[in-house]
This record gives sequence, C-alpha cells and structure tokens, in this order.
Amino acid sequence: MDLPPLPAIDPEHLFLKLGLSPAVVAAVAEKGYSQPTPIQERAIPIVLSGRDLIGTAQTGTGKTAAFALPILHKLGAHGPCRCLILEPTRELALQVEEAFRNYGKFTGLRVAVVYGGVGYGKQREEVQRGVDVIVATPGRLLDLLGDGTIKLGDLQVLVLDEVDRMLDMGFLPDVRRIIRHVPAQRQTLLFSATLPPEIQGLAQSVLTNPDTIEIGIRSSPADTIDHAFYPVVAAQKFELLSTLLERTEYKSVLVFTRTKIGADKIAHRLHALGHKTGVMHADRSQRERTEALDGFKAGKFQMLIATDVAARGLDIRNVSHVVNYDMPENPEDYVHRIGRTGRANTEGDAYTLMTEDDIRNARAIERLIGRQVPRRKIENFNYLFSALFEEREKADLAPKTVSRLSRGKR
Ligand code: AMP
Repeated sequence: MDLPPLPAIDPEHLFLKLGLSPAVVAAVAEKGYSQPTPIQERAIPIVLSGRDLIGTAQTGTGKTAAFALPILHKLGAHGPCRCLILEPTRELALQVEEAFRNYGKFTGLRVAVVYGGVGYGKQREEVQRGVDVIVATPGRLLDLLGDGTIKLGDLQVLVLDEVDRMLDMGFLPDVRRIIRHVPAQRQTLLFSATLPPEIQGLAQSVLTNPDTIEIGIRSSPADTIDHAFYPVVAAQKFELLSTLLERTEYKSVLVFTRTKIGADKIAHRLHALGHKTGVMHADRSQRERTEALDGFKAGKFQMLIATDVAARGLDIRNVSHVVNYDMPENPEDYVHRIGRTGRANTEGDAYTLMTEDDIRNARAIERLIGRQVPRRKIENFNYLFSALFEEREKADLAPKTVSRLSRGKR
C-alpha cells in the first residue's frame, strides 16, 4: 500500500509535545487541530503509558482522537490485529473507523469496520486482507468470531466506547462474551457519559487498576449552545416549526421526533414546503440511513429528521440548529440531542417545542442540567393559547394542588 509522503510539521506542534509520533501528528495538523482538547491532554499520556482508563466525557469533547491518536502511535506499523473498538451503533462504528483512517493516513495501519444489517462478504474480505484495527458493533463481531473470520489472539488494546449506550441497548452480555476472546494481558479503555452500577461492575471485572478522567460536568450541554423552550399547543407544532425555520438563518438543521412515524410525517411535510430533507430512524434500511446521513453531511439535505438513533455520539459537522420537535422523554437525551450542535467550541442553537403535556419532562430536563431553560415566544405568530398554558405550568409547580384538583375532577 502506498503511503502519502509525510508533510513537514511544526516541531513545536502541541500534539508532538504529548509524545505522539510525527506520522500521527502530521494527520492531526492536516485536520487543522493545533490545541489538544482537555480530554486529549489528559487521556493521551495515560493511553501511551499502557495503563487502563475509564473516561467520562460529554460528546463533542474530542474523545475519539483522545484514544485513536495514542493507539495509532503505539501500533506503529502494520502487523496482526492488535486493537478492537466496540461501538453501540453502526453509525458510530463508521464514524470511528473514518477517524482512525484519517488520523492513521501516514502510518500504513489498516482499519476495518464490522457491523450488522448488511452482507457479510465485503466485511469478511476486508478483515481477511489483514487489519491492525477493527471497529465493530457487538452482534456482527460475535458472528465473525464464531466462524473464525476474526481472531483476537494478538489483541493489545480493547476500547469499549459509549458504554452507557451499550447498556441501554442490552449489549453488555455480548460485550462480556467478546472479552472472552481477547487475551487477558491487554490494555482496556472504557468510555461512557455516565457510570451507573452495571457499568462500574463491568469496569471492575474487565479493567485492571484503571486511571479515571472525568471531563466537563456530566449531563450538561456545552456553553456554546443557545437553547430554549418554545411553548405551543400540539395542533400548532408544525406551524411553529415552519415559522421558526422561515425566520432562522441556518446552515443545517437536525430535527428530532419521538417516533419513527413522526419523523416520516415531518420529513414529508417539510419536503412539501420545498425543504431538502433526509430521514433517519431504525425502520429505515442501513443503505437509506447511510444515504440520509451522508447527504446531510455533504449538504445535499439541509435538514435531517431523526429519532434518537441519531442522537448519541454522532459527529455531524456544522449542524447550526437542533430542533426537538418532540420534547425528549428521557432528560439525558436532551443533552445528547442538543449536543449535536455547538460541537468542539463552535456555536449552535437548539429549539425545543413544548406543549402542555411536556411540562413534567421540561422540569426533569431542568433538574438534570441544573438550570432553567428560557421560554421563548416568537413575534407575530398567531398563538392559539394564552393564559391557559402559563396557568398549567404554575399549577404543575404545586403538585399537591394539582392532585387535589384532579381528584375532584374524577
Ligand atoms: P468527538 O468528541 O470525538 O466526537 O469529536 C468532536 C469533534 O471535534 C470532531 O469533529 C473532531 O474532528 C473535532 N476535534 C477533535 N479534536 C480536536 C482538536 N484538538 N481541535 C479541534 N477539533 C477537534
């Protein structure tokens, strides 16, 4: 395989000072990173030292490079498969594979990605050609371990990424099964936004004397995101969305809905208004999902309508606006969803439509992030509600009164 020639790099480049090889730093410099992010500053020396690591970090903090760069440095030159990264979703696996390819372009190291929902042929071929790094989702990896296509006997580094998401998706038993295929002598890195007891249990059994780093305040959106709730009655949600879009200068908008049918409907209606839209949810085929995501990234679609499959961890550049068409039921999803904008210190806006039924969820979000989210109304919009909405919200602040009232009504 022909390697591109190594470009000259500034000997003062801060990533060189972290101890990374010129081949790795050249790729970083080419990406235009001049300063390591806090998680990179702290994680890179730990990973280089060979110690196990537990990292809790918000999305958009530069976590992928924090583990990819030192791993590529350690692997050095092409050899047997020595690194496995487990990801909860195909999209994340593809994204991390791409990061490894980019950061490793001057190293000659080979990367393969393995995920379900598509044929086996290409993935098998790729692995059989000989790869240094495999990025995989658990189910397909187990298949390819089972039929002997993948062997992990030479593994040196295991990365368990987005482990809280793997827990949510019921993958932890698969993760444990996979770990039985890897040598006990290895370095293990575990990344998770939160560390509930199940994950602490996993960490205890699969990591040895790990270092721990925690970046940012967990469960709070980045300061670069301007976010607000937009109260509206359910019947006017779409009208408010289209008015907001009309009055906003956006580059690209990610719209979240609660249901798959909702996503299809909204996409259809926005399309009818002349917007170029892509749709992403679990009922779409892998090909359709990839097309929607690639089209959105490339600017072919200015809007991507998605359910929470797209919410976590996906690194979509230059999302200028996130709209929660439906308020998320799980407050942590709010942080994940709006975290799709304002990434790596760029600015972003997030609008959340809020109906009367969302008041409790809105409060749960505010409790989680520890502050009030401003309520905004837009000018010259023919709002159907007035005092009613505000009354409900006040009543909701006094649960005893509400329960007395509702008992009375029954
Ligand atoms: P991640 O948290 O790994 O999803 O990364 C979020 C975004 O930050 C990605 O688009 C990276 O390309 C970008 N990024 C990572 N490290 C740096 C850095 N040191 N300087 C600027 N951007 C970065």
